[in-house]
Amino acid sequence: MDPTELAIEVESLHLRYPGSWGSPAVEALIGVDLQVRPGEILGILGPNGSGKTTLLEILSGGLRQTKGRARILGRAAGDRQLIAMMGYQPEGPLPFPQLKPGEFLDYLGSLMGLPGAELSARRKAVLSQLRLDGVAERKLGKLSTGLQRRLALAAALLPEPKLLILDEPTSGLDPEASLLVMEILEKFRAGGGSVLMASHHLQEVERVCDRVCVLVAGRKRAEGSLDELLSTEEQLLAASGLDASGQDRVVEAVAKAGGSTKGWRQGRRHLFAFLRDLK
Ligand code: ADP
Repeated sequence: MDPTELAIEVESLHLRYPGSWGSPAVEALIGVDLQVRPGEILGILGPNGSGKTTLLEILSGGLRQTKGRARILGRAAGDRQLIAMMGYQPEGPLPFPQLKPGEFLDYLGSLMGLPGAELSARRKAVLSQLRLDGVAERKLGKLSTGLQRRLALAAALLPEPKLLILDEPTSGLDPEASLLVMEILEKFRAGGGSVLMASHHLQEVERVCDRVCVLVAGRKRAEGSLDELLSTEEQLLAASGLDASGQDRVVEAVAKAGGSTKGWRQGRRHLFAFLRDLK
C-alpha cells in the first residue's frame, strides 16, 4: 500500500433507511467523517443501533450512502476491484450451511478471481492461521458460532488483503480464540495492513486498537487514540522492592514535593497475558 494513501476515507456520510409499511424513515448515519491510515487498527464503538453495521456495510459495498463520500484504498466504496483488495467479515451466520470450510473458501476465492494454485495455497494458509484444519470435513451448518466466526475471518484474509473490515470479530469466541484473533490482527498490522473493526469487547479494543471512533445515534461523538481519550490527571509511578517503611517514605516525599497519593496498590497483570503465559 502506498504509505501516504488512506485505507479508508469517509466524509460527511449520511444514510437514511426509507420508511416502509407505516414505519418512519431512520437516519442511521448523520454526517460521519473518519479516516483509517495504513498500518492502523481503528475501533468503532457505540451502543446498539448507533450505526456501526450500517457504516461497515457501506464501506463493504453492500449499501449505498444517501449523501457524502466513502473511499477505500483510493477507490469509491463498492468498486468491483475492491473484492480482491479488502476482506469483509460481516455479522451473523455464514451462508451455504451444506458446504465444508475448504469448499466455502474455494467458492469465495473463485469470485475474487484467485487463480487455482494460488487459491489452494491461500486456502491452506488461512485455515491453518485460524486453526481450523481439524474441522475441514464438517459442514458449515454444523460448526459452532465461534468456529463460524473464525472461518469468516479466514475468508476475509483469503485474498491477502490490504484492509480488513470486521463486524464484531471476537463475538461468540472463547478467550483462547479471541486471543488468537487479536494476535492475527496485530500481525496483519505489523505487515502494513489496516483494520476497521466494530466491537463491544472493550478489553480487546483497548489491546488492539490504535484509535477509536465512537458513534451515538448515527453521529460521531468522540475520536482519538485511547491515550488521548482515556488519560486522567493522575501520574502513575510503578515501584517494586519496597517494604512498608520504604512505601511510607515515598508517600512522604510525594507530599513534600507538593503532590498527593491515594495509597499503594498491588500491581496486576492483564488477564490476557496470564492466559497466554499458561501455555
Ligand atoms: P449498530 O450496528 O450500531 O447496532 P445499525 O447500523 O444496525 O446499528 O442500525 C442503525 C439504525 O438503523 C438503527 O436505528 C436501526 O434500527 C436502523 N436500521 C438498520 N438496518 C435497517 C433497515 N434495513 N431498515 C430500516 N432501519 C434500519
